[in-house]
Amino acid sequence: MNQVPSIKLNNGTLMPQLGFGVWQVPDAEAERVVGAALQAGYRSIDTAAVYGNEQGTGRGLAGAGVPREELFVTTKLWNGPSRTWDRDAVLRAFDDSLTKLGLDHIDLYLIHWPRPMREGFVAIWKAFEEIAASGRARAVGVSNFRPADLERLGAESSLVPAVNQIELHPLFPQAELRALHRRLGVATEAWSPLGQGRELLTLPAVAEVAARHGRSAAQVVLRWHLQLGNIVIPKSVTPERIRENLDVFGFELDAADLAALDALGTGPAARRIGPDPAVFDY
Ligand code: NAD
Repeated sequence: MNQVPSIKLNNGTLMPQLGFGVWQVPDAEAERVVGAALQAGYRSIDTAAVYGNEQGTGRGLAGAGVPREELFVTTKLWNGPSRTWDRDAVLRAFDDSLTKLGLDHIDLYLIHWPRPMREGFVAIWKAFEEIAASGRARAVGVSNFRPADLERLGAESSLVPAVNQIELHPLFPQAELRALHRRLGVATEAWSPLGQGRELLTLPAVAEVAARHGRSAAQVVLRWHLQLGNIVIPKSVTPERIRENLDVFGFELDAADLAALDALGTGPAARRIGPDPAVFDY
C-alpha cells in the first residue's frame, strides 16, 4: 500500500519522497487530518513550531498505531525576530517541539527562514550540530535558504544541511538552487508543491497533461516533482484529496509532458507565491 520511494539524505537517513504538510491546519483539526493521512498511507509529516499544531499533530501520530520507526516527522525552529537565538534558546525551542509532538526524537529539524539581515543563522546552525550529534534529530537542515546563505553556512560549518525546503512548483522551478543542491549534496524539498492549489492547477497546459493520463492536475504536478527528484509535502484537509495526492505512483510523465510543465516556469504565469527569503523577517 505504501509505495512511496525514499530519498537517501547526505547522512544516510532515508526520507520518504512524498509526505504530508500541515501548514494552516488548526491544532484542533490536526489530529484528525494527520490521522487521515497516516490511514491513507503517508508516513512523513511536515509541521513547524509556528504552525501552532505540533500538539494536534502529535496526537494524530500517537493515535494512528503506526510504529515510530515507520514515521518520518519534520518540524522547524521559528527563529523569529522577537529574541536572540543563542545556543540555549535553540535547544529550548527544540525541547519544546519534542514535548508538544510527544516524541523523544525528530527525524528532520529545519531552520525555518534564513533572515539574512540578522546574521544569526550560523549560531543557530552550531546548536543544530549539537542536536544532530545527540541523535535527537536524525537529520538537520534548512528552509528558504538562498544560494548565498548555503555558501555562507558551508564556509562556517562542515555539517552540510541534509535538506533545503524551498518554495518550488512548475511556476517557480528554482533551477539555480536545485543545481546548487545537487553539487553540495543537499536534498531539495518543495513547499507549496501544488502552488497552493491556485492558478497552477487551472492552467491549460496542466489540464492537457492531466487529460492525457486520465489523472488530476494535482497528480500530474506531483509527478513532475517526483520525476525531477524533489521531495514533496502536499497539504489537504479533504480525505479524498489526501488519498489522491498519494496515488501518484501508477503512471509516469514522458519527456513531452515534462517539457510542457517545465515551460510554465518561463511563461506568463511564472512567479513566486510566498515571501522572498531575502527580506522575510516577521
Ligand atoms: P500546497 O501546494 O500543498 O497546496 C495546498 C492546497 O492545494 C490545499 O489547501 C488545497 O486548497 C489545494 N489542494 C490540495 N490537494 C488538491 C488536489 N488534489 N486537488 C485540488 N486542489 C488541491 O500548499 P502548502 O500547504 O502551502 O504547502 C504544502 C506544505 O509545505 C505546507 O503544508 C507546509 O507543511 C509546507 N510549507 C513550508 C513553508 C516553509 O516556509 N518552509 C512554507 C509554506 C508551506
